[in-house]
Amino acid sequence: MKRYPFLDLKLANEPIVDELKTAACQVIDSGRYLHGEHTELLEQEMAQLCQVKYCVAVSNGLDALRLVIRGYKEMGLLHDGDKVIVPANTYVASLLAVSDNGLVPCLCDVRPDTMNLDSSQLEGLLSPAVKAIMLVHLYGTPCWDEQLMAIAKQHGLLIIEDNAQAVAAQASTAGLNGTTTTGGLGNATGMSFYPTKNLGALGDAGCVLTSDEQLAATVRALANYGADRRYHNIYKGLNCRIDELQAAMLRVKLKHLPQETERRNMIARTYSEHITTPLVTTPAIFPHMRQVWHQYVVRVKHRDQFRAYLEANGVGTDIHYATPPHRQPCYSEYKSCHLPVTETLASEVVSLPIAHPIDEQSAIEISNIINNFND
Ligand SMILES: *Cc1c(COP(=O)(O)O)cnc(C)c1O
Repeated sequence: MKRYPFLDLKLANEPIVDELKTAACQVIDSGRYLHGEHTELLEQEMAQLCQVKYCVAVSNGLDALRLVIRGYKEMGLLHDGDKVIVPANTYVASLLAVSDNGLVPCLCDVRPDTMNLDSSQLEGLLSPAVKAIMLVHLYGTPCWDEQLMAIAKQHGLLIIEDNAQAVAAQASTAGLNGTTTTGGLGNATGMSFYPTKNLGALGDAGCVLTSDEQLAATVRALANYGADRRYHNIYKGLNCRIDELQAAMLRVKLKHLPQETERRNMIARTYSEHITTPLVTTPAIFPHMRQVWHQYVVRVKHRDQFRAYLEANGVGTDIHYATPPHRQPCYSEYKSCHLPVTETLASEVVSLPIAHPIDEQSAIEISNIINNFND
């Protein structure tokens, strides 16, 4: 029986393994393992990709988001106890970055079609304590619309992007200037380069993006023990450095990202065209945005049977995410919150294989297996 693993990073990285090894050897031979030229060039390349002025490469995605919020606190724009609107359908790290800084996540339910923050619910959540919105471009689909922009502007809210899942996605910004790459939509962004993400390192890494010079300088200092220059600490900072080795791996990956995004879009189109069973709802493809398909997430009522059936037919799947943050034990303060769309999604979503070596042919084969599912 042919097997379709959900994700095998060794296989996924196989097409560029020689380039990765060459780059790794070059770093090893250079003797420069932190703050080297790859880190500097990665920062330039990411800033350019997202059309922002500054990029600070850091240790991971959670640290990137923590640094953005901490940076705004040091600048006096956010304070202990302030509220940040966060979509309820997200990975728990989006909330952790807020609560770790003594701020309060204010959960907003999502739309069934985008599975991202529902901006029609924003107004109902506003209060004087709400100072920012964290946007999460979940599964690689940009979260951006006119209403969101207008509300943020009218109420002076900071827009922080959690772009852990959508590097190089694009949102159409009608009324603005055409198309904008995620990471450059709001005031500041935290990105993750965790190995499974659509731009993944071979270990932990992340970055902060912003066009705000003061925030960039604050984050850079905070990530370096709070030092603005050597042995001069202006903040009680952190150590959030990126490894030079990971920066080098990411620069190799970044070169191939347009091709990889194209491939993921082709797989997504193939699934959406060939999965025809009424038992499975495929994710929306939005012609006015560029989705990057970190995950291809379908919805199915009898999920356990569906996954067991696929597994028995050689198709690996995963769930993103079975338990929403407001149902996690560590966030018991949200126990009584009811966020119906998020909760339904949590009980129905299934992620299908999309990373290399899944090609058009295997996507058709997987679709055919799915179409033969009876619940
Ligand atoms: C992965 C992820 C993070 C955290 O990134 P790490 O690099 O694992 O710390 C944050 N938010 C979202 C939405 C993620 O998917």
